[in-house]
Amino acid sequence: MSSVAATLPAAEVDALAEQFSDATAAEILLEAVERFPGRVVLTCSWQRTSSVLVHLVATQALDVRIVEVDTGLLFPETHEVRDRLIDRFGIHVETLRPRRTVAEQAADEGAELWLREPDACCGLRKVEPLERALAGADAWVSGLRRSSGGSRSTLRPFSLDAARGVIKVAPLWRWSSEDVEAYCAEHDLPVHALHAQGYPSIGCVPCTQPVAPGEDERAGRWAWTGKTECGLHRPT
Ligand code: SF4
Repeated sequence: MSSVAATLPAAEVDALAEQFSDATAAEILLEAVERFPGRVVLTCSWQRTSSVLVHLVATQALDVRIVEVDTGLLFPETHEVRDRLIDRFGIHVETLRPRRTVAEQAADEGAELWLREPDACCGLRKVEPLERALAGADAWVSGLRRSSGGSRSTLRPFSLDAARGVIKVAPLWRWSSEDVEAYCAEHDLPVHALHAQGYPSIGCVPCTQPVAPGEDERAGRWAWTGKTECGLHRPT
């Protein structure tokens, strides 16, 4: 199925971003669902922002596919919070996996590819499955926030990922980490257990470390490299 979003002029997406610059997260989500019925995907990494977005989707009964990419290298706590959210909200989660297991990748590419070529590893274990998940979608909702810094600091509520032919939707684009934490507490949501153990940002086990108080929230990701993004989210 061809993508409607791919045909939207960039100027129209910019106008949408402007129009929704003061909107709430719920209003941004609703606009995506109404504009692209049946073709909205929410990707969940099961960090706190996933808890917020699942809550918004489930409580408004929005027609959104909820997708995770299981790299085979996730923390047990990541699976645990996913299961708790499923139990609490009765959501259906589609799981996308890399084409090769970790052992198969090691046999083909050598052990611990993430240490030598993390971009290649993310390409195989995160980006390729994600792009399968987005096939046929027009809108891709994620928990990106400006306050995470780096390439995310210019984020807008709607933006065009022209290469993938989707509109990126960031309902939490203006939220601080404190806003996310407060929302989860207010609604008593299940949250990833590692957040309370010094991990503000959580990905695969080999590439995630805790950070010191006051450090950048993504400083614990690929900390031995200059890499800051896995390649799912490109600067807009
Ligand atoms: Fe590989 Fe690390 Fe990327 Fe996970 S985060 S896919 S282990 S490089």
